[in-house]
Amino acid sequence: MSLLYDLHCHSTASDGSLTPTELVSLASTNNVDVLALTDHDVTHGLHEAWQQAKAQGIQFIPGIEISVSWRHQTIHIVGLGIDPDNLELQQGLESTIIYRQQRAEKIAERLALAGIEGALEGARKFAGGQILSRTHFGHFLIDQGYAKDMKKVFKKYLVRNKPGYVPGHWASLEDALNWIKQAGGLAVLAHPARYAISNGRLKEFIAEFKELGGVAIEVVSGSHSQDEVLRMAELTKYFGMSASSGSDYHGPTNSYREPGQLHEMPGQCQPVWETQSWTEMLEQL
Ligand code: AMP
Ligand code: MN
Ligand code: MN
Ligand code: MN
Repeated sequence: MSLLYDLHCHSTASDGSLTPTELVSLASTNNVDVLALTDHDVTHGLHEAWQQAKAQGIQFIPGIEISVSWRHQTIHIVGLGIDPDNLELQQGLESTIIYRQQRAEKIAERLALAGIEGALEGARKFAGGQILSRTHFGHFLIDQGYAKDMKKVFKKYLVRNKPGYVPGHWASLEDALNWIKQAGGLAVLAHPARYAISNGRLKEFIAEFKELGGVAIEVVSGSHSQDEVLRMAELTKYFGMSASSGSDYHGPTNSYREPGQLHEMPGQCQPVWETQSWTEMLEQL
């Protein structure tokens, strides 16, 4: 029997709505065998999740999802099998976390200009960790009746050309890949079909990503359609890279799919968990 892998999930440490313990329990209920917690730019949910995974007999992969700016585009890089206590990683993330705080203040200022007061304090009420994400502003705006659900609230307030949008200035690709590498992790391009860039641009990105040490492409994502899964599978073949799979679960009211409820990995892909780098990463955990 093959194992069920879910290598991309969020908890209250970033913008998920389940605690690390609740997330691992749900994954266990859904028969996930190997789970990675990959919160945005923070690692402080990992120890709790790890303990709970031990208790539930799930193999745990400590992870992260780092926000990167590449040619004015925000791209997410998942790091799998990182050492949460690695100094280079933590120092790097610190700058991202400081930037996040400044951006949150700007988002709140912009929303105030649009007549929506108290957004910073409001968003904080929905945040369980060190960081504020647009998702927390989304929860606040939904709570205040500005939109019905997360999808609508993003479209109306939180994306480019909308009142609460502030362009991202995240880590460089090179820095993020270095931090992951220093911490012993494998770098995976998150949800490649979700970026508003042309196929040509995406290929340019992946070429650079691979050149700088990127290992895998998240072919199966909770946010990918079956068609997108197949297109991304083609890209792994084109670049000779391995493939990852993750739900990108954020919580009961804000997710495409539940942990472990994933499209099948296309047969032509080499799963990242069947590579030598994966075996070496596991040995260091
Ligand atoms: P941030 O890193 O703070 O800019 O927030 C990015 C997060 O917002 C993503 O990880 C998603 O969880 C969420 N997000 C982005 N775009 C959308 C969207 N169109 N609908 C719902 N959630 C979104
Ligand atoms: Mn998120
Ligand atoms: Mn993401
Ligand atoms: Mn994610």
